[in-house]
Amino acid sequence: MSETVGEKASGLSAALRRLHHLFQKPIVRLPVMALLMVAIFVFDTLTDLEIATAVFYIAVILLAIGRFAPRQVVGLAAICVKLTLVSFVLSKSGSREAGVVNLGISISTIAITTYLALKMVAAEGAAHAARAQLIRVARVTSLGELAASIAHEVNQPLAAIATSGDTAMRWLSAEPPNIDRARSAISRVVEDASRASIIIARVRDHARGDPPVLQVIRVDEVIEEAVELSGGELQRHAIALRLALADALPTVMGDRVQLQQVVCNLILNAIEAMMPVPASRRSLTIAAMADVNGDVEISTCDTGIGIREDHLARLFDSFWTTKEGGTGIGLTVSRTIVEAHGGAIWVDRMKPYGALFHVRLPAYAAAAA
Ligand code: ADP
Repeated sequence: MSETVGEKASGLSAALRRLHHLFQKPIVRLPVMALLMVAIFVFDTLTDLEIATAVFYIAVILLAIGRFAPRQVVGLAAICVKLTLVSFVLSKSGSREAGVVNLGISISTIAITTYLALKMVAAEGAAHAARAQLIRVARVTSLGELAASIAHEVNQPLAAIATSGDTAMRWLSAEPPNIDRARSAISRVVEDASRASIIIARVRDHARGDPPVLQVIRVDEVIEEAVELSGGELQRHAIALRLALADALPTVMGDRVQLQQVVCNLILNAIEAMMPVPASRRSLTIAAMADVNGDVEISTCDTGIGIREDHLARLFDSFWTTKEGGTGIGLTVSRTIVEAHGGAIWVDRMKPYGALFHVRLPAYAAAAA
């Protein structure tokens, strides 16, 4: 059966690869190079002076490049030049003038090849170092992002812990102390602390690249949990809350804690946007309904300072913030989570003031179909 051209080529390249691997071993490489040098020396000495056999020393130099230190390569080149000179002296046959010209050609070829090959290796080394530096920078940047995201996510339960702790202290130092209220404030502290530790564990999993914990989720429950977690802040800022959760919402497939984080982020942003407006005007509506396609749409509508038209395009950019002390990471993280769930997040400006955020998540039944 005849071999095709492709089969021959692949057989040849496999043989070359095997040879290359073999040659990587010093135990093979050094004797081969020594043999080659001896062979070139013998041929150069025995052949006529008109034949510039010594130029083949460049093969030895090229074999040494990248495998030996630059100083060793230069030393090897010097040995090749010496051998060329010795051959010239020992060679008896041929024209002396042609021999001198060939000697010049051989020595300059060896020298130029050594110089250029060493420069090439140095350039490769510089490129390698630059690539390594780039990888380090990328790693530091993503660590920075991770740190900023932890700071942002954990800030909320920590603020709630501080508030509840303060409240507990006040109830305990009242005359007479109100133990029941202090106890319920402390139980809020415990809940928020465990939420913070869940967030940290989740961020750690995320950093390790662990997949999110997927389960069938009821969106109205996620919203209610998020509202409960943000309850203290909503009360503290006298924000009127309205929940409009449709009955019989479709379920979604997702990570409960991550989706809770998204809703908490939107609530927190709404609270912060409403802080500068008079307390009588502060109201937040959180709605959830099935959209025309049967997907679930969550929305948060606030009556805060609103969003400038020219800020709309930058809202979800990492580290973009208009707040003093803001991280600019909340909406970035929210979008990453929502998109990882196959959904979308976007915002509308409200007239005359306020912002309306939408989160669309594919319904579980629709996704399974
Ligand atoms: P941060 O909370 O640190 O500012 P975010 O990513 O949460 O970061 O938000 C980025 C920016 O988007 C905020 O600084 C703010 O300017 C704007 N923004 C977010 N939510 C609202 C909102 N409900 N009303 C007005 N502006 C908002």
